Amino acid sequence: MYVLNNVKLIIMFGIMILFLFSCKKEVHVNMSIKKQPFGKTEEGVLVNLYTFTNEKGMEVKITNYGGIVVSIRVPDRDGKLGDVVLGYDSLDGYLEKSPYFGALIGRYGNRIAYGKFTLDGIEYSLAQNNGENHLHGGLKGYDKVVWQAEEVKSGSTVGLKLNYLSNDGEEGYPGNLDITVKYTLTNNNELKIDYSATTDKKTVINLTNHSYFNLAGMGNILNHKLIINADRFNPVDKGLIPTGELKKVKGTPMDFTQPTAIGARINEDDEQLVFGGGYDHNWVLNRSDETINLVAKVYEPTTGRIMEVLTTEPGLQFYSGNFLDGTITGKGNTVYEHRNGFCLETQHFPDSPNQSDFPSVLLNPGEQYIHKTIYKFSTE
Ligand code: BGC
Repeated sequence: MYVLNNVKLIIMFGIMILFLFSCKKEVHVNMSIKKQPFGKTEEGVLVNLYTFTNEKGMEVKITNYGGIVVSIRVPDRDGKLGDVVLGYDSLDGYLEKSPYFGALIGRYGNRIAYGKFTLDGIEYSLAQNNGENHLHGGLKGYDKVVWQAEEVKSGSTVGLKLNYLSNDGEEGYPGNLDITVKYTLTNNNELKIDYSATTDKKTVINLTNHSYFNLAGMGNILNHKLIINADRFNPVDKGLIPTGELKKVKGTPMDFTQPTAIGARINEDDEQLVFGGGYDHNWVLNRSDETINLVAKVYEPTTGRIMEVLTTEPGLQFYSGNFLDGTITGKGNTVYEHRNGFCLETQHFPDSPNQSDFPSVLLNPGEQYIHKTIYKFSTE
């Protein structure tokens, strides 16, 4: 009797597995890559738009102009796909006016004071394109160049390998910098970004991605709940250059060690928030080593969408979209109003070339710059 019951159980279990397997097959989407023309740059160079889909139906669109992430469609808690990044439907939008929507940033992400730094006694001068300071690589940073693109597919991932050779002297930086950025979409709803670079002359480097997220897909981002795994941040001066202090977040509106709505304290009368017009600061990430660490998590209550950020980098620039002001009409005729998107830029600290106490951003010939970041999506 006992043996018979066990046989029955095994048969029932087998039928259940077969049933589940056949169900899974029905919703199964094949991983795919689609390439289509996206337009021409002002110099007449044709650029493409690559669409990547994983087996769960998550879809990411990337163009080789500026390595821009044009859209990321992920499910909400009911399985409904929605686009969670800001941007434009066509290349023209990006060419005309873009506050770095989705773009690769370099050679140096964020600010360098007065656009100057010195290496081995030689002073280098960069464009002062943000008041008196240098921002995001200068007048024509990596967000505005055409990258060589190669589609990559493995058994369980799809992606795009981008390459750009940034010449010695380009935008004032020393050294020919050979850069590779690989975007990978996995079946765990992760978008992985692997940056690497080598130089033939001592230089400074700080690459990042400037995606503006809105996990609700629209409206302001003030109700998104954010955790940043950092006990300290870089206070800044009026020009958003770090003072050099690594200040404790405890007791300040910069404390995101517990899940807190972005809007909960953003309008407080706090000198740092006034300087940034909201959040526009670098957090000094808690980490025990240089391997990839979970550094931030965002939860959007109406859709249940979650985004986790993992990185090898020591810093995270949290920018609450303070300069969005309703003058940009983006995808699907959406007007991007004040704080309709936020950025979590994994990076080294701003102005590091002039701050010897900050982690080094130097790259020497024979060395390899390596930076890995993952944006992972789920729901709750
Ligand atoms: C900076 C902001 C800047 C924005 C440009 C962010 O990384 O921290 O100050 O305005 O990029 O869109």
